[in-house]
Amino acid sequence: MTKEIDCKRCNFMIRSENDDELVSFVQQHNKNMHNWDTSKEELLRAAKDV
Ligand SMILES: [Zn+2]
Repeated sequence: MTKEIDCKRCNFMIRSENDDELVSFVQQHNKNMHNWDTSKEELLRAAKDV
C-alpha cells in the first residue's frame, strides 16, 4: 500500500510503498531542511494512504 507524508513546515511531499523507506526519507528531510528530529511513530501517524 502506498503512503504519503506531507511536510508540516514546507511543501515537501513524499510517497512510498515501503514504510521504512518513507520514514527514513522524511526524517532526513526534516533533519536537513528544518533541523527537526521526528520519530518513526509520529511520522507514521501523519502518513496517509493514497
Ligand atoms: Zn519540509
